[in-house]
Amino acid sequence: MSNKNISIAIDGPSGAGKSTIAKILANKLSFEYIDTGAMYRALTLKTLNLGLDPSMKKDVLQAMKNTIIDFNDNHIYLDGQNVDVDIRENIISKNVSYIAKIKEVREKMVDIQKQLADKKSVVMDGRDIGTVVLPKADYKFFITASIDERSSRRYKELVLKGEKNVSFEQVKSEMIARDELDSNRVNSPLKKTEDSYILDNTNKTIDECVDEIISIVEGV
Ligand code: C5P
Repeated sequence: MSNKNISIAIDGPSGAGKSTIAKILANKLSFEYIDTGAMYRALTLKTLNLGLDPSMKKDVLQAMKNTIIDFNDNHIYLDGQNVDVDIRENIISKNVSYIAKIKEVREKMVDIQKQLADKKSVVMDGRDIGTVVLPKADYKFFITASIDERSSRRYKELVLKGEKNVSFEQVKSEMIARDELDSNRVNSPLKKTEDSYILDNTNKTIDECVDEIISIVEGV
């Protein structure tokens, strides 16, 4: 590959395996991995920690003031604290879509994301990467899987983490609700672009997906 920075945009719904695939891909290509969902999650965490309501725009904008969200070595920092683990709690997943639909929040996050991609070759995953953040990305992928498969993966993850009082049906209905909010919001809804390569991994392993993407990027 040449010296020009390369950008790979990965979009798709929750639980499609985007971040797992993106992380391995970035590692294999020696690119930086940027998990944009983690940034929206971090602001949700801050809002909740302050005792504010993530479904109220004024509360979220208040929480966002003086908030610093940054990545270092694939770890996410909220006001200087590593929040890798805290942002994966189910309470964050349940509330994050409320804050992600706020225009001012998106503007701030997109600004940071564009700056990160200017500096290095990146694999960036989210919902609006191919449409808004990196519309000129060198490669765009839309990764998806059936709702049952995505819910089942998320359910197993939660059980493994020791989360009690959670049922498959509940996880599935929360995922449908999040898909709805992410796909139908006014600001930067989740959308597949015409120039995206669709990768449905309902019946594929992570390694198969990574290999498929690498063969496209390396043109083999
Ligand atoms: O990818 P992840 O599931 O961690 O994203 C959490 C939430 O953040 C999504 O459900 C969506 O509401 C929001 N998000 C977004 N735009 C992005 C990445 C995530 O709106 N680029």
